[in-house]
Amino acid sequence: MIRSILIHPDPRLKKLCDPVTEITGEVRQLAADMLETMYDAPGIGLAAPQVGVMRRVLVMDCIKEGTPEPMVLINPAVIWASEDQTVYEEGCLSIPDQYADVKRPAEVQVRWTDLHGVEQERQFAGIWATCVQHEIDHLDGKLFIDYLGPLKRQMITRKMEKLKRERARELTVR
Ligand code: ZN
Repeated sequence: MIRSILIHPDPRLKKLCDPVTEITGEVRQLAADMLETMYDAPGIGLAAPQVGVMRRVLVMDCIKEGTPEPMVLINPAVIWASEDQTVYEEGCLSIPDQYADVKRPAEVQVRWTDLHGVEQERQFAGIWATCVQHEIDHLDGKLFIDYLGPLKRQMITRKMEKLKRERARELTVR
């Protein structure tokens, strides 16, 4: 089931999410819905708070062409980050059509629990490293625009407020 994606500004996008304590059917359904929602958007990553669920779950797939590689990370944590940093132009499904350069560690080692309850660990590089850090930030109530200067951030926030007003109006007209 495709879930609706919250648009910034929304208080739920600014909150610390709770860890998942047990892989229940509800968590499996959430992960499946999040992947479907992410591919439909389309996007390369999605975190649970973006669909209004305040749990530490994220999904991602940074493969642009070829066989998809859907990943579900439960309670993910960065356990090592390289000193080397890279700049990527980031966007976010909760901040549609807005992009900005963000500097982050080029490589990160991440530990998480998979859908079978098994602990996993992997080193991510390139776009995967940027994506996983962006999504983990969501679980801590942090958005990529928080890395920008206050003026740029306010400009984007005002655009999003306008977009939300327009969308609300469209719904009323319909
Ligand atoms: Zn995002």
